[in-house]
Amino acid sequence: MTPEQAPTSADVVTMDKIVALCKRRGFIFPSSEIYGGVGSTYDFGHYGVLLKGNVKNEWWRAMLREREDIVALASAILQHPRVWEASGHLAGFTDPLVDCKTCGQRFRADHLGDLPCGRKPSKHPGETDDCDLTEARDFNLMFETTIGPVKESGSVAYLRPETAQGIFINFKNVLQFSRKKPPFGIAQVGKSFRNEITPGNFIFRTREFEQMEMEFFVPPAEALKWFEHWLAERMSWYTSLGLRPDHLRLRAHDPDELSHYSSGTSDVEYLFPIGWSELEGIANRGNFDLTQHAEFSGEKLEYFDPETKERYVPHVIEPAAGADRATLAFLVDAYDEEEVAGEKRTVLRLHPRIAPVKVAVMPLVKKDGQPELAREIYEGLRPRMQAEYDEGGSIGKRYRRQDEIGTPWGVTIDHQSTDDGTVTLRDRDSLAQDRIEIEALAGELEKRLAAPWQTPKLNA
Ligand code: ATP
Repeated sequence: MTPEQAPTSADVVTMDKIVALCKRRGFIFPSSEIYGGVGSTYDFGHYGVLLKGNVKNEWWRAMLREREDIVALASAILQHPRVWEASGHLAGFTDPLVDCKTCGQRFRADHLGDLPCGRKPSKHPGETDDCDLTEARDFNLMFETTIGPVKESGSVAYLRPETAQGIFINFKNVLQFSRKKPPFGIAQVGKSFRNEITPGNFIFRTREFEQMEMEFFVPPAEALKWFEHWLAERMSWYTSLGLRPDHLRLRAHDPDELSHYSSGTSDVEYLFPIGWSELEGIANRGNFDLTQHAEFSGEKLEYFDPETKERYVPHVIEPAAGADRATLAFLVDAYDEEEVAGEKRTVLRLHPRIAPVKVAVMPLVKKDGQPELAREIYEGLRPRMQAEYDEGGSIGKRYRRQDEIGTPWGVTIDHQSTDDGTVTLRDRDSLAQDRIEIEALAGELEKRLAAPWQTPKLNA
């Protein structure tokens, strides 16, 4: 992260505004709030579930439906402890930690310059004469637990810190049963757990989060070609779903940043309100993982090509994304404020495929047969897309609410509707209102949902 490049206070979107909107509109709540909260864990409410669900579905769509060389997997969170020995996590999945003997707080030694130490006025750890920092020591980020009813006699296990290892240990199963040969990929979405020393920035860094990871197994000579392929694919996934290209960049790791097994890693970075930060890592992992698991398990993890009679350990290209971080990026990118008819309007200009609700159906008044007709329209749309029926409060208030949850279209039923079978269709971004026949409504909305989408100009 480079805080000096963080957006200035003149920018419309701030993390505080996102946190407030998420709470106000039921996207994301601090977890265990009635007990005072438990640091940096969050619960997703109705719209948050729909939003993150759409992010994950779009990822699956790009991995599975739009190609034929990737298969899905859902591996267990609890795995054999040897998995983490082989992967190197037990010995090396550590962050350097320092304690401050004065204030009792703990910090990541490599982030001291970015972290506040809690003093007012705000200082970084180690910046004042009072600070008394210990030497850095390594802290393993894996959560430990035991399998079995009695703690002492149970065997130690770890909550997985990434989903990737579940893929490597299933390489042989998938190869046997999926009738795939390299180049092919195995994709997985699921929870991962890391006992982060300094979680924070809302859902950017939490101790429990969801990852979307894909391991792409290739003949060694093709590794570089596929690495380039996935860099381009992943960047275009974000932009095709509406992230502004000038808020997105690829940053290649410096040689001293690279993991020992990686011959190349690039991060997709997004310009969050906290500055440029990692959204996804794309790594050329060589044959490290399969070789390690073959050695530790005694199983052969390789591919025999019946045509060339060649036997080899495939190399792996890994695009590893975070579902929560991506959700946060979509929220931040979509957030906008503007003035309409002298009133401030907050709007999430989400891509329609990412938006939690696609259409809101609203009777103008709660009488004259309008609610009945509106419900009928809503029930007709509901099986075809996520729709919402809303009759409470003034129409202006209802529009504001739908704008804040990013609903791209609003359908209003008025006195004319009951006479001539037409409704108004309001566009969230342009605010255009088209009169449209009820018969044609569902088809029109489906057409708009499928159409290429241009990120509207933001005020930010
Ligand atoms: P960071 O440098 O931010 O700690 P990382 O390089 O350790 O991340 P990876 O191990 O490459 O992350 O994980 C892949 C992706 O998983 C990240 O790009 C991010 O989107 C997500 N991710 C990792 N750790 C967290 C976390 N603590 N909270 C939320 N998402 C996370």
